Amino acid sequence: MKFKILLLASLFIQTACAQYFEKVQPQDIRSSVDFLSSDILKGRETTTEGELVAAQFIKSKFIKAGIQPYFETYFDSFESKGFKGINVVGFIEGTDPELKNEVVLLGAHYDHIGMGDKVQNDSIANGANDNASGTASVLAIAECLARLGTNKRSIVVALFSGEEKGLLGSKALSKKLKSQNIDLYTMLNFEMIGVPFTNRDYEIFITGYELSNLGDKLNSYTNSSMVGISDVAKKYNLFKRSDNYSFYKEFKVPSHTISSCDLTNFDFYHHVDDEIDQLDFVFMASTINKLIPGIVQICNTDSKEIQMYATN
Ligand SMILES: [Zn+2]
Repeated sequence: MKFKILLLASLFIQTACAQYFEKVQPQDIRSSVDFLSSDILKGRETTTEGELVAAQFIKSKFIKAGIQPYFETYFDSFESKGFKGINVVGFIEGTDPELKNEVVLLGAHYDHIGMGDKVQNDSIANGANDNASGTASVLAIAECLARLGTNKRSIVVALFSGEEKGLLGSKALSKKLKSQNIDLYTMLNFEMIGVPFTNRDYEIFITGYELSNLGDKLNSYTNSSMVGISDVAKKYNLFKRSDNYSFYKEFKVPSHTISSCDLTNFDFYHHVDDEIDQLDFVFMASTINKLIPGIVQICNTDSKEIQMYATN
């Protein structure tokens, strides 16, 4: 009898969750990473054909998910420091007449370093963890949010070019959005989220944890302790080393990178062996599924609860 009640209870919870959102499957993420990190794209270096093919792939995912272009087209080109890059920018309009003027930005860089030092006849730096994993995660999350269609605030989904050349794409986009005076609430950037930690009591960290209440809020919104502090990330100031920093600099609002890699648990950073077989897609899907209700909350609270801490 007891067993039956338990079974019924678990069925009820599962149904409630399914109504809430259709879960992201490991296979969904794997297929995106598989394409983005394939040899045909030759390491997705900015200004190369391989990067353009990656941009077209992202655009096709947006179209399939019913995500609109943020600008007139999905491709937002820029030129900087001799590089020509394309940010791919989608839009999920908010449902609330007032709150939709506030923007939650989800981002990840999709470019990589191109060719690397040759190891056993392989010189293509496939960048599966860096950052096909972040790109695939953002695509999966955005697709889920678009399907849900419950976000009161608007969501801009930006996949950046030129990160490896010095955050070029995010600098261009953050300046452009600042000049258009958008009301950016929070920016969540995804970097190297394909390999789990083995020795931590959290699944992911955010860079610059101590600068805002985002980490604490994500834990309370997801009713978990999935987000932690990485001392290594702090030591190397990873807060300033990815695209979140461009938005922090322009807007001075909470802008952080979500990651499961602080270089202590991954030996193939900018190495030709950063390939798909290093990644754990069950971990990625479960992390994303845990995180999505937190992102929904960020989009839907009445007031802007995520805030920077005052500095002296
Ligand atoms: Zn990266």
